[in-house]
Order: sequence, then structure tokens, then C-alpha cells
Amino acid sequence: MMENFDVIIVGAGIVGLSTAWRAARAGARVLVLDKGPTAYEASSRATGYLSLRGETPEESPLAQAAERLWDGLDEELGYPTEWTQKGRLWAAITPQAFDALQITFQSFQRTGIPFEFIDAKTCRELIPALTPHTLGGIHTPRAGHANPQRTSQAFAWAFQDLGGEIREYTPVLDLLTRGGRISGVRTPWGEIHAGSVVLCAAAHNAALLAPLGIDFPVAPVRLEAFVTAPLPPLFDQAFIAHGLAIRQTRRGNIHVNGGPHEWTAAGVATEMPKPTTPLVRNIARRLFEVFPTLRHAQMLRSWAGIIDVTPDQITIVHAFDAPKGLIAASSAGHGFGMSPSLGLALADLALQGRTDMPVASLSLARFADLPQDWRRIWNWQPGSYNT
Ligand SMILES: Cc1cc2nc3c(=O)[nH]c(=O)nc-3n(C[C@H](O)[C@H](O)[C@H](O)COP(=O)(O)OP(=O)(O)OC[C@H]3O[C@@H](n4cnc5c(N)ncnc54)[C@H](O)[C@@H]3O)c2cc1C
Repeated sequence: MMENFDVIIVGAGIVGLSTAWRAARAGARVLVLDKGPTAYEASSRATGYLSLRGETPEESPLAQAAERLWDGLDEELGYPTEWTQKGRLWAAITPQAFDALQITFQSFQRTGIPFEFIDAKTCRELIPALTPHTLGGIHTPRAGHANPQRTSQAFAWAFQDLGGEIREYTPVLDLLTRGGRISGVRTPWGEIHAGSVVLCAAAHNAALLAPLGIDFPVAPVRLEAFVTAPLPPLFDQAFIAHGLAIRQTRRGNIHVNGGPHEWTAAGVATEMPKPTTPLVRNIARRLFEVFPTLRHAQMLRSWAGIIDVTPDQITIVHAFDAPKGLIAASSAGHGFGMSPSLGLALADLALQGRTDMPVASLSLARFADLPQDWRRIWNWQPGSYNT
């Protein structure tokens, strides 16, 4: 029997799940397909920050829309996300980082968000455990963080509560088109049809779109993370310093990720290796340089994850004219925080062909002049590192 849905979503990461929940809430019959378990990839491996994208003001409106949605999300979903809005501090502890941060701050001022460049003393008043070498930082009382595993689970459960179906271990191998429109997908167990298909398969989107002659400029990169055993409260801001994102969870664990990151390759439905490497020692050393009191903290577990990075590191939201009904997204490595507004935009586009969410400048049109071998030119090649 031929299966038919209003919308098929490829990828049960947080972007796909948020889209699915919104579309199901609007009354659509939605099927989510994933090559593996729900939220097994980047979405459960993230640190959990919402960045307001001061460094890329073009997508800051979408991040600010996400911020508004995060506020009521626990209640709307009916499950806890551990959303905490205690601001964000991006600190510099070396003279080079301090100079770079002052330059970065110029773009932050284009967002209209209350970002402030604060001195070392004010940084250490906000987070007393910070190293005495702290030189200053960018602070906003806005932004925040949540628990990536709980949030992914919350979206999945809320979607299923509405009757939505997530089919795990069901890779999409091909996109099907008929008469200039998307008509469905092919899986190892046959075809499934829908009037609209939303690609939320992160870097795998590129391999799914290539047979249609569509260039989706996205590169996968592996990064590593670990958590310590729970510690007494140190800080509750979203905190960045020394190339690390460092969050203290509600249970007290210090959760940290950082670079350098290794570029990798993604094929249709393949699983990319995610080893923990000796790089973790370098991350740990930098963590101790930022928070000397953590030197005796116990490491609990470590892992790696893959993010999809776009050439300008800005989110892609694209509704194709040909084939019509096909939509693709890449959250450029910061999709956890953006997931509430990104999902709303993608669900609107799938169901109505338009959205009030601020995504007009995030389409593929901006890459019209990008050379096809951009990854080779920039050395974003599998096996090379970005430092
Ligand atoms: C260590 C780390 C820290 C991070 N920290 C943050 C942070 O603090 N804040 C933030 O905003 N972001 C952060 N990110 C990035 C964030 O996790 C991602 O941007 C976000 O999770 C992307 O969600 P997604 O649903 O698009 O992708 P994913 O979670 O990668 O989901 C894509 C899904 O598609 C599936 N799939 C792929 N190919 C196919 C196919 N052919 N058929 C069916 N299914 C397929 C995959 O199995 C996967 O489940 C971090 C990422 C990592 C790894």
C-alpha cells in the first residue's frame, strides 16, 4: 500500500523534531524519518547555548525570535528543557584574544541587543571563579542555555503526543519528484509520498540534493566535548573563553566543548566516525587555564559530535522553486539554540509556502558566486583541522 503524508521530514535531530512538532500542531500529517535513533547526532551532543548571533547580525533576528519562543517552550511542549536565561559572557584571557574580541564587538553593536564590553573586574564579579588573567569580555544579560538531550526528547514526545510518527533506522536514499514538484522519498523499504519534504539531515542534505543537480554548500566538522562530575554552583551564564564553550548543568556538571575541529565527509545515510581523541587533554588544559579551581575536577565522560558548517557560518533556510515543495535547512553549527524559530519557519514554509519568521536573507541565493570547489580552496577538506 502506498503511504502518503502531508509532510515528510528527513532527520530526527532537534531541527527536524521542532519542525515536525510545529507542523503537527498546525494539523498536518507528519512523518519523521531518521537513519538512526532519534537525536543521536549533533542535537544530543551540543553544549546547549542559545547565541543571539552578535557575530553574524544577518541571522540575529531569527535567534532573537528563538529567544522569545524558548521562554514559553516548557509549558507549550509539556516537558522540561532546563531553559535558563542568565545572560552570556564571552571573555578573553590572552592579549591576542582580547584584541580579537574588541574587533568582534563591532559587529555585535549592529544587532540592537544590549551587548556591553566589560572590564576584567566586572567579568570576575559576574563569575568569581574566573582566572585572574581575565582581561575583559562581551556581556549580555540576554541569551541562555538548556539541556540538549532533554530538549530533543521534549520535542520528540510533544510531537508524538499529537499523533506524529518518528521512524528510526529508516534512511532516506533518494528524493522523488514528479512534474517539477517533490513527491516523496525512497527508503530501503520502499517509497513514501508527501506533498512537502523538509531536509533536516544536517550535512547529509548535500548528498541528498546532489542527484537533483543542487549544490548545498555545507561542510561537516567534528568537535569534542566532555563533562566533569557534578560540582557546587560556579556560574549559570552561557560562557565562552579560550576557544571553549563552558556550561554548568543544573546538576552541577561542567560541560565543555572546543576546537580545533576536524573537517570530515558525509554521504547519504552514512554514519560519520566520532572518536574521542587526545585533543580532549588540550580542551581540559584550556578549561583549567580559564577556571584554575577545576584542576582537580573529575572527568565523567567524553564524546564527539559533527556539525554542519556553511561557508559564511550563517543558517540556511531554502524553499526550492524546483522542485516545488522541497525545503532544506542547515543551522551552520548553532542550531540547538535556534531550533524553536527555525522549526517554526520550516513548518510554515512546508505548509503555507511562506513564513513571518525572519529567514528571507538566509536562502541559498547568497551563494550564487561560490565556486563549486570552495571546500578545497579553503582547505575545509576531510582530515584537515580548523584552528
Ligand atoms: C559538541 C557540540 C556542541 C554544540 N554546541 C551548541 C550550542 O551550544 N548551541 C547551539 O545552538 N548549537 C550547538 N551545536 C550545534 C547543534 O548541535 C546543531 O547545530 C544542531 O543540533 C543541528 O540540528 P539538526 O537537527 O540540524 O542536526 P542533527 O542533530 O545532526 O540531526 C540530523 C539528523 O539527520 C539524520 N540523517 C542524516 N542523513 C539521513 C538520511 N539520509 N535519512 C534519514 N535521516 C538522516 C541523522 O541521523 C541525524 O539524526 C553543538 C554541536 C556539537 C557537536
